[in-house]
Amino acid sequence: MKFDVNVLQYLSKDDFRVLTAVELGMKTHEIVPADRVDQLARLKRGGCYKVLKNLLRHKLVHHDSTKYDGFRLTNLGYDFLAIKALVNRGVFVSVGRQLGVGKESVIFEVGTEDGTILAIKLHRLGKTSFRAVKSKRDYVENRTHFNWLYLSRLAAKKEYAFMKKLGEEGFPVPNAVDWNRHCVVMSLVPGYPLVQVKEIQNHDVVFETIISQIIHMAEVGLIHCDFNEFNIMIDDNEKVTMIDFPQIVSTSHRNAEMYFDRDVECIIKFFRKRPSFSSIEKSSDYDKVLAASGFTRKDQEEIEKITQTNELNSESGNDSEATDESESSDDESEATGEALNERSLPDAYIEASINEMELLHVVDQHES
Ligand code: ADP
Ligand code: MG
Repeated sequence: MKFDVNVLQYLSKDDFRVLTAVELGMKTHEIVPADRVDQLARLKRGGCYKVLKNLLRHKLVHHDSTKYDGFRLTNLGYDFLAIKALVNRGVFVSVGRQLGVGKESVIFEVGTEDGTILAIKLHRLGKTSFRAVKSKRDYVENRTHFNWLYLSRLAAKKEYAFMKKLGEEGFPVPNAVDWNRHCVVMSLVPGYPLVQVKEIQNHDVVFETIISQIIHMAEVGLIHCDFNEFNIMIDDNEKVTMIDFPQIVSTSHRNAEMYFDRDVECIIKFFRKRPSFSSIEKSSDYDKVLAASGFTRKDQEEIEKITQTNELNSESGNDSEATDESESSDDESEATGEALNERSLPDAYIEASINEMELLHVVDQHES
């Protein structure tokens, strides 16, 4: 999603008044009748329709005339109301790049007055979750009338409350800064979601840390319910931060045990996929394998010697072929990268390989 915050600056007081009137109207109407918007907005100099047209142009409201002439907020319109409220409150002053997109949210960087970068999460409980949520009493309590605005706001309220509480209890979570409508403001978590991390150095430590978080949470009566490699952030020092709390349930929930087991299982499954190098117990070593194969340590040293020379050559830019290629465009050299490496192998290496192959062939014949 492209987020043009510049539009914020162009919106007048009247624009926001009318936008808020549409929001207010949506408490009772899925599509708010145009004259109802006018009534609620009570613009001093009139002209509600003109304002609505402007909001429509910026895609902040949606026009629907199937049953009657009416309007509803778009996601963007709701985003702007929340952002405007938080900016007015001085929580942040600018909105930057998109950091992530989840199942039911979008995350952006925001900047504060003193230059600190924070993160905002805009909840988007759309039509799919709308259906699913009907059965989740945690979200909707006893309200009979609800809509996506209400649900998204409730998700944000819950997420903020739990993030704050977990932080106070010493759990590794983002610092909960503030919230408004469907928007949660929190500290920026360094690093990446676990799912994007290629290699974990301290595999066992990270695994233990994560599992112990699940246990500690249960000890304070909570289950995350969506604890997996997408909702665990890990930084360069392999410090773990958990995120994403709208679906937390209590350990007294009737399905608590199932949710707990599922969280644990997700983590175990993820870590099981990645054997850790340091935990491998060797039953044999390279030299023994070598000795049995007929390919000697001396042969290996020869290869290392040649490849090392090759590496040194390409590092110092001595490779004449590579220098020739450097004149071609970037795109081209990228495309021919593989061929280039092959060609830059010194002849001696290729010769050695051929000899090696012949040698192995002889050994094979000899043994059979
Ligand atoms: P959803 O509920 O939609 O899954 P998440 O809270 O999991 O949303 O956030 C989605 C993604 O956004 C995360 O996987 C992560 O990449 C990024 N993200 C969320 N919160 C932060 C944060 N505080 N700092 C940095 N990145 C974040
Ligand atoms: Mg998530």
